Amino acid sequence: MSSTSTTPVCHPLDSTLPFPGLPVPNPCLSFWQRSTRYSPLLNLNSQKSPNESGATPIPEHADVVIIGSGISGALTAYSLLTSPKAPKSVVMLEAREACSGASGRNAGHCRPDAFRGFTAFSKIHGDEQADEILKHEKKVLELVDEFIRTNNVQCDWSLGKTFDVVMGEDFGDYVKGSYEKYAGYLNEGIDGVRILNEKEAKEETRVPAALGAYEWSAASIHPAKLGQALLNMAVAKGLQLFTHSPVTSVTSASDFQSWIVHTPTSKITSPIVIHATNAFAATLIPSLKGKIVPVRAQAHRVIPTSEFCGEKMLTHTYSLRFSLGHFYSLIQRKADGAFILGTSRGIPSISEATKKEIFGGKNDTTFSDEIKQDALARFSEIFNIEPKAMGEGHEFGWTGVLGVTPDSVPFIGPVPTSPGQFVIAGFNGHGMARIFGCAPGLVKLILGEVKSWEETGMPKCFQITEERLAAAVN
Ligand SMILES: Cc1cc2nc3c(=O)[nH]c(=O)nc-3n(C[C@H](O)[C@H](O)[C@H](O)COP(=O)(O)OP(=O)(O)OC[C@H]3O[C@@H](n4cnc5c(N)ncnc54)[C@H](O)[C@@H]3O)c2cc1C
Repeated sequence: MSSTSTTPVCHPLDSTLPFPGLPVPNPCLSFWQRSTRYSPLLNLNSQKSPNESGATPIPEHADVVIIGSGISGALTAYSLLTSPKAPKSVVMLEAREACSGASGRNAGHCRPDAFRGFTAFSKIHGDEQADEILKHEKKVLELVDEFIRTNNVQCDWSLGKTFDVVMGEDFGDYVKGSYEKYAGYLNEGIDGVRILNEKEAKEETRVPAALGAYEWSAASIHPAKLGQALLNMAVAKGLQLFTHSPVTSVTSASDFQSWIVHTPTSKITSPIVIHATNAFAATLIPSLKGKIVPVRAQAHRVIPTSEFCGEKMLTHTYSLRFSLGHFYSLIQRKADGAFILGTSRGIPSISEATKKEIFGGKNDTTFSDEIKQDALARFSEIFNIEPKAMGEGHEFGWTGVLGVTPDSVPFIGPVPTSPGQFVIAGFNGHGMARIFGCAPGLVKLILGEVKSWEETGMPKCFQITEERLAAAVN
């Protein structure tokens, strides 16, 4: 989420965690999923009980197999099928419903990191790559906007401004330091970022306890509508989507030229296999164990009180920040006025039992009541509001699973030592601000449309390399 983290790792990643296995089969429904039950793709070609349902069986061969139907998988499929070098047959295998992973259950922010991450990214990747990461996120906002407008995608896209609201002095010092460091690196001010002093912040953000704020461009979105639209567009171009088809292994074919992708009901052979499996990537690519780790995140839908309805709706989206790891993301949806309140994994008062559900957690069947209570209490306190009428306030909550990496950037590109296998995963709670700048670049690499990584438009540090896989965690 812009919610979860632009901020490089603010907790230790436990490299001894077991392999993530498969996504759980019966996840709870997010608000986004609850409001898109009409999509004909949700259970398309379900292989749950293929003989009874009469679903089309998974073919025995394809030119490309994509594993995972989130925004990474969907945009990769669409980019492949709209290329002049489009493969003839592209099959997508999804373990559960279409787009039911993090893409269908996030906090609805497409929010580039404007400067805050510079300090931490530069510690890990150096100043130049930190700059590349931030520029890339800014570019992605433009790319998503352009894609949605060009293709007239109905996904409640709302491009506007966002506030980072400073709620703690230490965080205020940190973020000021990041601003100055990045401005120093650029040798100028940071284009598009406005700094609000305490008085301006209190007035403009409507947060009485704000110590300051930063404003820049960002958007809110209905991510499941975007995901379903991308899949629809890909299916219209020939994508064969099979839902409820968990991939259990990928093995080498006897010709050593192709791979056999196994599900409980089928085997499909293909020379090219693309893993768009996010938090679960290590299950099928063992070298990613401890490098992409599942972390459960939570969001809530809250119905506003009259102080935040109609003309009094919030004009911006928010990240309300007490510290680097402790913050709340907030969007107020133009489409229906409801708030989506996302939570972070660094809530200081959180119990050890809840921490265990978060770190390494893949159980998105339910949400944590402890996190919900904290989020609602903070929300009331921050904006000084209480629900008054029945129907106002918390409606429901949901969880989803992030793919978190030790160096806070995704793993993209050809899987070392497995020619023909590619990965696009590990978006660290920031996929909406990154994927549109990554999937098309990966496709260019796969189809040989570019000769070097530099031509893909992705920061160098996103590339999966043997060195990154071998690097010690933390
Ligand atoms: C609560 C929450 C809030 C978030 N908020 C934001 C936000 O506000 N802004 C933002 O930018 N990002 C946010 N994120 C992160 C964002 O949603 C992700 O970065 C992004 O959706 C990743 O997309 P993806 O396609 O790579 O992965 P996913 O959407 O997770 O897709 C991966 C797919 O692979 C499938 N899969 C996995 N293993 C297998 C297998 N073996 N066989 C078959 N299929 C398999 C899964 O079922 C899933 O559908 C949030 C995430 C959560 C959970």
